[in-house]
Amino acid sequence: MRADENKSKVYTQEVGKLRIYSTTLRKEYHDKIINWVDQVLLPDGTTGEALTFVLPTRGCKYATASHGGCTMCTLPTDNPLAPTIELLNSLPKRTLEIFNKKGGKERFGAVKFYTSGSFLDRWELPFENQRNIISTFVDIVQEITIETRCEYVTKKNLDNITSVMDPQKLTVAIGQETTNDEINRRSINKGHTFKQFKRAVKKLQSYNIRVKGYILLKPVFISELTALKDAIQTGKDMIALGVDSISINPSYIGKATLMEKLFKGDEYSPPWLWTVYFATLKIKELAGDITVISDPVAAGSDRGPSNCGKCDKGFKRILKEFSSKQNIEILFDEELACSCQEVYRSAINTEHISCGFGVTYHY
Ligand code: SF4
Ligand SMILES: [Zn+2]
Repeated sequence: MRADENKSKVYTQEVGKLRIYSTTLRKEYHDKIINWVDQVLLPDGTTGEALTFVLPTRGCKYATASHGGCTMCTLPTDNPLAPTIELLNSLPKRTLEIFNKKGGKERFGAVKFYTSGSFLDRWELPFENQRNIISTFVDIVQEITIETRCEYVTKKNLDNITSVMDPQKLTVAIGQETTNDEINRRSINKGHTFKQFKRAVKKLQSYNIRVKGYILLKPVFISELTALKDAIQTGKDMIALGVDSISINPSYIGKATLMEKLFKGDEYSPPWLWTVYFATLKIKELAGDITVISDPVAAGSDRGPSNCGKCDKGFKRILKEFSSKQNIEILFDEELACSCQEVYRSAINTEHISCGFGVTYHY
């Protein structure tokens, strides 16, 4: 075994141990459908509202492997370990009830179905359940978004889902996180290569399905400046592949993750909002008409991206507004002119120089 393979193994063993611990926090069964509303740009070019559901499937299979899955991911912790088939069968009716109660088709132009894993994975949602959920909403919204890992983008899975809907109404989001395979392997443990992502994007495009790429901004073990450059490069690569939208997802500290362990040991902190801002601005400049979403989770809190404290609220509001309107002028709002930019520049340059060209090896 090569020395760097050995190092990778040490860190994935740690992620695996943390995942075993986080699994003990999970409930055997619950039927809660988490949901929220956000503002989005709809396929017809108008700003509207989308209703997002987190379905109580058993969550991401990749996270159950002995390597523990992705180093920042806490998502499956909220999902039941053993949902019943009756629960899965009840999802179309129950999600529609929530949809109607919150305003129905008069209010929402889009719905998103997240599973804390992959909607297209039959281990989480059997084919019939996938079809039933989709067909319940296909005639009442403009767009349906689902998430998946690359390996489930197969002919069989896409034939199943497109048998009940016009593929042009479907957006498939893939958490590629970075197009740099080295960062992906050493920092994220995603298990997707750029080549696999390219294959998945091409496959979806061959069905006329819209593609959304997720970028993880600031994984562990790299400097903030490297993270910023990596996010911009990943955006560039996604644009070159012809994705329809890009979502920039700055890190936040999820419970029982390697990221949390490093955070508690003062070896990691979530990115500055300035980094989120510059990544958003640069990627939007490159993306042109391609939608760029940058609406950070936990912005301004200790466990999420933040600045000096005085300007955090303004950044949060402006990034949110930009994400739903896509007007780049919004990013030049005077409210963002905070003096902490000087401190930010100095901090990220000092960190970059002091940790050896931006990559630290703690494992
Ligand atoms: S980030 Fe996605 S692929 Fe990675 S462990 Fe979490 S749910 Fe699974
Ligand atoms: Zn500030």
